[in-house]
Amino acid sequence: MLILDGKKVRDFHTGRLVERVRALSSQPTLALFQIGDNRESSIYISQKKKFAESIGARVIHRHFVADASLDEVSRAIEADNVDPGIHGIIIQLPLPRHFDKDALIDVIDPLKDVDGLTTESQRLLAEGNPRFVPATAKAVMFILDFYQIPVAGRRVAVLGRSKLVGLPTSRMLAIAGGEVTVCHSQTPNTREVTRACDIVVVAIGRPELIGADYFKEGVIIVDVGINSVEGGKFETDLPKRRLVGDVDHAAVAPMALAMTPVPGGVGPVTVLSLFDTLVGSAEGLGHHFS
Ligand code: NAD
Repeated sequence: MLILDGKKVRDFHTGRLVERVRALSSQPTLALFQIGDNRESSIYISQKKKFAESIGARVIHRHFVADASLDEVSRAIEADNVDPGIHGIIIQLPLPRHFDKDALIDVIDPLKDVDGLTTESQRLLAEGNPRFVPATAKAVMFILDFYQIPVAGRRVAVLGRSKLVGLPTSRMLAIAGGEVTVCHSQTPNTREVTRACDIVVVAIGRPELIGADYFKEGVIIVDVGINSVEGGKFETDLPKRRLVGDVDHAAVAPMALAMTPVPGGVGPVTVLSLFDTLVGSAEGLGHHFS
């Protein structure tokens, strides 16, 4: 089985990104809004800052307390909307409960919506004419492209239909010419669908739920899931937790032609993808696929 190594894909594109940043007259700059102190969000934010630094881009971290008002945060986003030195604006999710997530996201100027989550970005993607695409969906496409796995004319299943992952991924695969079927928690015959597919993308957030009975021999699997479960490999692991995907990798490996590992698959490519989009925005290209 071929391991679809996300780190290789990331490193390949990072080299190209550095060149593109060098060629720009202004430094690509991302305004990142954090509200509250969600621990996982803080980890993701520091990964983004570190990656930005490695390619010569900049992240302006706008951190608000958890009980900040929608008005206060909206005003700060509006100021960044009109600042020509800012090329992208993102809101780190999840937000504290009292925030209307969709309302806040739609305050972002669609021309700076590098996470691709505003109503306008989602509409453009649904119409098959994307400007900015959510990073995870872009990461899936980067991996398939790097490993020269053709999508056009092939039967593809996407498990999960969230705005952030499943839905945009299914749209990108359809735009690439795949014959795409989306399955979700209410789909009665998911196994029947996936067993007929050449490529299966799984993004459901259920640790190792998807076993060998979902696939045919020779399937290509992209496991987007990142789940933290109990049971580190070593006694000394503190705390005893490890990351697993949505697919039962040990059970599925013998039948798959190729598969992304977890960790080390889609994850590393996702941060790269966000900055690929940011640099595209700084270049004035909007949706950019290098
Ligand atoms: P979500 O909870 O918003 O959506 C889950 C989707 O899966 C829903 O559409 C639901 O209907 C569907 N679903 C649930 N059980 C199912 C089943 N048994 N069969 C088919 N569909 C089912 O989650 P999300 O934000 O889309 O994230 C999905 C997974 O991807 C999570 O594990 C998350 O941690 C991971 N993720 C990874 C990255 C990355 O960079 N690799 C980025 C974002 C999310």
